Amino acid sequence: MSAAVLDGRLVASKITECSISSVAELTRNGEQRTLYILSATSDPSSTSYVQALLRHGARVGVRVNVERLDPGSGAEEVRSALIRASDDPSIHGIIVQTPLPPGVDLRDVADAIAMDKDVDGANPHSLSNWISGGSGFAPATASAVIELLDQHGIELEGSRVTVVGRSSVVGKPLLHLFLNRDATVTVAHSKTRDLAAATRGASIVVAAAGHPGLITGEHVGEGAVVIDVGTNFTPEGHLTGDVDTGSVATKAAALSPVPGGIGSVTTALLFRNTVIGPTARPLLPL
Ligand code: NAP
Repeated sequence: MSAAVLDGRLVASKITECSISSVAELTRNGEQRTLYILSATSDPSSTSYVQALLRHGARVGVRVNVERLDPGSGAEEVRSALIRASDDPSIHGIIVQTPLPPGVDLRDVADAIAMDKDVDGANPHSLSNWISGGSGFAPATASAVIELLDQHGIELEGSRVTVVGRSSVVGKPLLHLFLNRDATVTVAHSKTRDLAAATRGASIVVAAAGHPGLITGEHVGEGAVVIDVGTNFTPEGHLTGDVDTGSVATKAAALSPVPGGIGSVTTALLFRNTVIGPTARPLLPL
């Protein structure tokens, strides 16, 4: 078997077209959407991601306002910047670049982000809101996994899913997103004793550990769908995921690539959230 490619760029284009047409309507009404990015890091991968967001904003017609704080800033400075952006009526979406300065934890400052502008679902109250059926935003990367599966017509109800990774931006929100769709979910992490035993029986495996090549053919059952969330850089500077594509592609039915998978959909969703808000209607499958 050679796995089908779950094309994130195609899904991202479709989401972006919706955003562009909503922006055109807003422009006719004299409205302009703005995404605010707080960055307090000189980390090169964060810098290049911010550049990518600026390009995407120009394509969609959303203004992107980057506030750069000193990498030595403290929690109070970060929090004050987030409160200012939350109170600013010309800003519609707020995201925070990580890593934050040493000693500043996103979880300790994210509650300063207004919930209606929390387009990456960082505020812990957003999580409790959408888990309980409210309209808050879920973290964009976790939502991108669901969107990619939905867009490729992959049934979630009744499926057995294993998510590898339990971070608050990917693994934990995915647990709830899959449960909300009536999947049966296992979440594996670094203390999981036998990772292959946790993943092999799953019809959907999501790899979000940040370890290149962690998921091999041995971890995947015949015909599984494998979503690679990993974003790792090789010593030569090449982007690579958490999945050993060569061995997994011979067993999986479908696999999302890196690059061209979840990352593209995540960016498109951040802008859609900024333009349309949490009530965006689901798109029809590709
Ligand atoms: P993180 O906070 O470092 O969490 C990694 C998770 O993986 C942890 O829960 C950890 O377990 C688990 N883990 C580590 N090694 C493992 C192993 N050998 N077996 C099983 N589980 C293991 O990372 P993150 O922020 O969730 O990101 C995960 C990956 O996704 C990274 O490559 C990141 O760059 C990528 N990412 C991509 C996007 C995108 O838009 N494409 C967005 C966010 C993140 P413990 O909890 O036990 O430590």
